[in-house]
Amino acid sequence: MERLQKVMAQAGVASRRKSEELIKAGRVKVNNETIKELGTKVSSQDEVEVDGVPLQREAPVYFLLYKPRGVISSAKDDRGRKVVTDYIPDIEQRLFPVGRLDYDTSGLILLTNDGEFANKLMHPKHKIDKVYIIKSRGIPTREQMKQLKQGMEIEGEFFKAEDVRITSTDGKKNTAIIQMTLHQGKNRQVRKMFDALGVPVDKLKREQYGFLNLHGLNAGDFRPLKPHEVKQLR
Ligand code: URA
Repeated sequence: MERLQKVMAQAGVASRRKSEELIKAGRVKVNNETIKELGTKVSSQDEVEVDGVPLQREAPVYFLLYKPRGVISSAKDDRGRKVVTDYIPDIEQRLFPVGRLDYDTSGLILLTNDGEFANKLMHPKHKIDKVYIIKSRGIPTREQMKQLKQGMEIEGEFFKAEDVRITSTDGKKNTAIIQMTLHQGKNRQVRKMFDALGVPVDKLKREQYGFLNLHGLNAGDFRPLKPHEVKQLR
């Protein structure tokens, strides 16, 4: 038995707080009866409706995928291109990615059907370390490295790295390998920050997400998260 608002949040209806408001407003039915008390618990056998729409109740599942380049971070694509959920076959649940990686970016991405879990992780207050490995065309100067850490305004938004270091350079090819940690997760953030410096990103890979990494996986591989990993991320 789980609290009604938790079940609603997990099904992706709304946050727990908003779900509580929906319950108090009399918009939620359990087994065809309107429920207004917040303490109500439901089992997997109970039928829950919100505004007359039955809730999809599925067991929550959590996967870590090593996304290859050339794959879309969504559950489906209108143009028939490969999407991240294609890599996890034979799963009944409707999965969606937690955040996104660009089409040309490879690396670690989580997939789940637990809407509450996904929303929590994507909230900026969570400050999860996201570690990227960048191959740049051009070698950033010391001053440019400083700028990444101090932050910069791009198109009216403030972008900042928590940490950034050069791991190697190739003077002949004029390229560098750089490790950068972000807490923010704005659209195309790494590429935009490097573009702003005039040092474009050639290749981009997300190597870590919080305490999770890609050890033992090749591009296209996935594994279920362990229960203790899910608990730790919550
Ligand atoms: N930053 C980017 O520019 N692209 C990604 O896919 C992730 C972070």
